Amino acid sequence: MVALTCYGGIEEIGGNKFLIEDGKTRVFFDFGQAFGHLDDYFVDWLQPRDRFGLRDYFALDLMPKVEGLYNDNALKPTAIKPSEPRFDAVFISHAHYDHVAHLRYLHEKIPIYMGETCKTILESHMQTSGSFFFTERGFERPYAKTFVPPNKVVTFRTGDKIKLDSMEIIPIHVDHSVPGAYGFIIHGSEGTAVYTGDLRSHGAKPELSMEFLEKAKEAKPDALIIEGTRVAPTETRKNHTEQSVYTQSLEVAKTEKLILAMRYPKDLDRFRTFHDIAKATGKTLVITIKTAHLLMSLQGDIHLDAPHPFEDEHIKVYAREMLKPRPYEAEIKETFQCVDFDWVKNNQKKIIWELDFSQLQELIDVNPEPGGACIHSMSEPFEEDPLSQLQDEVLHNWLNRFSMNHYQFHASGHASGQEIFGICNAIGAKATIPVHTAYPELFESAVASARLVKKGERTSF
Ligand SMILES: [Zn+2]
Ligand SMILES: [Zn+2]
Repeated sequence: MVALTCYGGIEEIGGNKFLIEDGKTRVFFDFGQAFGHLDDYFVDWLQPRDRFGLRDYFALDLMPKVEGLYNDNALKPTAIKPSEPRFDAVFISHAHYDHVAHLRYLHEKIPIYMGETCKTILESHMQTSGSFFFTERGFERPYAKTFVPPNKVVTFRTGDKIKLDSMEIIPIHVDHSVPGAYGFIIHGSEGTAVYTGDLRSHGAKPELSMEFLEKAKEAKPDALIIEGTRVAPTETRKNHTEQSVYTQSLEVAKTEKLILAMRYPKDLDRFRTFHDIAKATGKTLVITIKTAHLLMSLQGDIHLDAPHPFEDEHIKVYAREMLKPRPYEAEIKETFQCVDFDWVKNNQKKIIWELDFSQLQELIDVNPEPGGACIHSMSEPFEEDPLSQLQDEVLHNWLNRFSMNHYQFHASGHASGQEIFGICNAIGAKATIPVHTAYPELFESAVASARLVKKGERTSF
């Protein structure tokens, strides 16, 4: 028997917050924020008041009111009294926002467990963006004027057996659109659960997911908690692989015009794909200082073998002209040789330029020759998401302005709906609980052991 309470990630994509209990041992898996989490009440500049911790979240039922889970600062402006922690740990599956965003509210005496690479990625991301998730030293938030207490962070590697009282938790790596992604096998005194995190088997390293699935099957779980991002009434998106993104992008990149490449910043597989294309075409991949920071942070990770941005002959790092660069940008600019818009302009025939949507203005300074291309290597805009539609329209306006062609080549971070159903049936758990999906009910007709749970309701399997 496994006792499960899902405080998020039910009938929504992301926001995973799953409590698994075995006797007195109580462990959370992931602590993220769902996409669209605040949309009912907040938009643009109307946002929860950071200075009041969780007050606005509690008042609007946007976060579960659970005692012994949050830190004093988050609780002080609310009606819930700070107390001793009532949970043993939070395990993080991977470094995506929808799995980690709420860690900053966590009780300081609850340790956080995550993969080594996941920690490196999050630390680099926190330094190079305005995001804040956790701290090991304590952190003063300049605008909110509050102190966020430090948490103990414990890192793991695949196959580690982590004992927490009556529970043994085994992280196993999976293939996903960020390195350092894991699923978990959770043995308790009364039963076994498996949690997939986010996964696919069409990325650069499908063998990781295969190993996880083998181990999950061997564990004969009572409960399988499985993601269903792409489970939908009709699946319109094609099932591209990392290899097909490479092949299609390579053809486009052969032209002697400026090529833009847009991808998710933490997707190292896609970085490698464009790096490989640069090598194959004799071009230079021009990356952002943010990507350079991440690559340098990952140098110590022998398993990843990430290229050093300032030592690789096919990489150059682009420095924007800034009046006041962020500290990490200034430090990298002072220490290493970066390139500017003039360099990009003069070498545009031989460049694949990684450009963020938020930095499209750089095109004004480079003023590329007509006929270039933009490879949009991210999700297509969602019909249900007006913001992504708007961004797509704006991107097209920029590309039209500079007479550049638009290409959409992307391999999803998630297994297709049919693959997910196949995994459920192959693992053969006594109960299969769909999470991280907008359509949990579709599991019922495809998987005999499917059990739908309600948000915040404790269920035993
Ligand atoms: Zn996710
Ligand atoms: Zn993810």
